[in-house]
Amino acid sequence: MSHRKSTPLNKVLGRIDDLDATNLAILVQRLAREQKLLRTIFDLVHEGILVIDQNGVIEYANGAAGKLIGFDVRDSGKAVLWKLVPDLARTLDLSSEGAFDEVSGASRELHLTYPESRYVRLYLVPFFEGKTGDSRKNLRYAVILSDITEEKISTQDQIENEKVSSIIMLAAGVAHELGNPLNSLTIHLQLMKRELRKMGENEHLAKIEKSLAVCSGEVERLDGIIANFLEAVRPHPPDFQDLDALSILEEVLEILGQELKNHQILVEIESSGLLPVISADRNQIKQVYFNVLKNACEAMEGGGSIKVRTRSDDEFVFLQIGDSGRGIEQSDFTHVFEPYFSTKEKGHGLGMMIVQRIMREHGGQLGIDSQLGVGTLVTLQFPQKHRRIRLLKK
Ligand code: ADP
Ligand code: MG
Repeated sequence: MSHRKSTPLNKVLGRIDDLDATNLAILVQRLAREQKLLRTIFDLVHEGILVIDQNGVIEYANGAAGKLIGFDVRDSGKAVLWKLVPDLARTLDLSSEGAFDEVSGASRELHLTYPESRYVRLYLVPFFEGKTGDSRKNLRYAVILSDITEEKISTQDQIENEKVSSIIMLAAGVAHELGNPLNSLTIHLQLMKRELRKMGENEHLAKIEKSLAVCSGEVERLDGIIANFLEAVRPHPPDFQDLDALSILEEVLEILGQELKNHQILVEIESSGLLPVISADRNQIKQVYFNVLKNACEAMEGGGSIKVRTRSDDEFVFLQIGDSGRGIEQSDFTHVFEPYFSTKEKGHGLGMMIVQRIMREHGGQLGIDSQLGVGTLVTLQFPQKHRRIRLLKK
């Protein structure tokens, strides 16, 4: 970080060897004051903020973080985040030594049960302390915890709120009605293309053909926007069936087969035997896979690979979809699930929001890890059938 050098404090620190006792004392006092100020400010922030090392040892926690995860400041440098929040260890791929792989960002939704029941979205962002280029020893992670309990409750409220839902139904009705004229446009554009071909070839006809191709492309895009809008606003409860998470993914890959081939994308599936049964809505899960795979393809313009991995523990089935695409910028990480957030020229920014909603409705979770220029890994965590049934009985 280049701006570091220019701060007055850094200037003084640069000449630290020349300072006499009095000036050194003044400097220490000033540092102590600054530290106190920063601590006070951090404790006022609504978000929980933690600093951990690569093994999850908590070095700093602000007031909000302490409250959320039940951490006592006196345990700084001793308590391990993965132990305080066991569900987190489950969703992060920790090595056997409990260390976390280097990523440029990771995001998870968690249900904290102790000391209080709260839902949070967690962002994990790495930073280096000291000079850049130093060894990995100096790797630290900032962990930001946003309390989304109210958001979760209010989405439920919103769906139940009659006024909002009647407006949504109206908009959904209009969007649905747009389907027929769009179909008709598609058919007539195709007819025009066919007639055009019969007319032979010349410069003018080529121009018309080009325009027709643009029209077809735009009609297709409108169709996509409407389909996604309808999917986003129509809250339909899942129709639960016993399913195998991987075989549905294979069906979706089959549908996308030609597109993957055209984009020179290789798909590799690594699965250890039969997966436990999950209870889920077939079409909604297909939609989840489709949106995630689409994003993976779009992140790999010049070709690449998609790696699918599955695993399970007593409670969950994990299905991971990794791509070798461009990755997600640190500053974009917190926006990925926002409706209409897109970094693509022709993106509509609803895909990940829909994925998140469907996973929530299934009692599942969604995590993203990404490294800029290396790739993105999406982890879909489905509760096993027996777990869902137990939760319903409670
Ligand atoms: P859209 O695909 O229409 O942009 P999404 O909601 O599907 O909308 O995704 C939102 C944004 O998240 C994308 O524009 C992109 O910046 C980022 N994103 C999602 N998945 C990936 C991925 N696999 N690789 C890189 N960026 C991604
Ligand atoms: Mg998308």
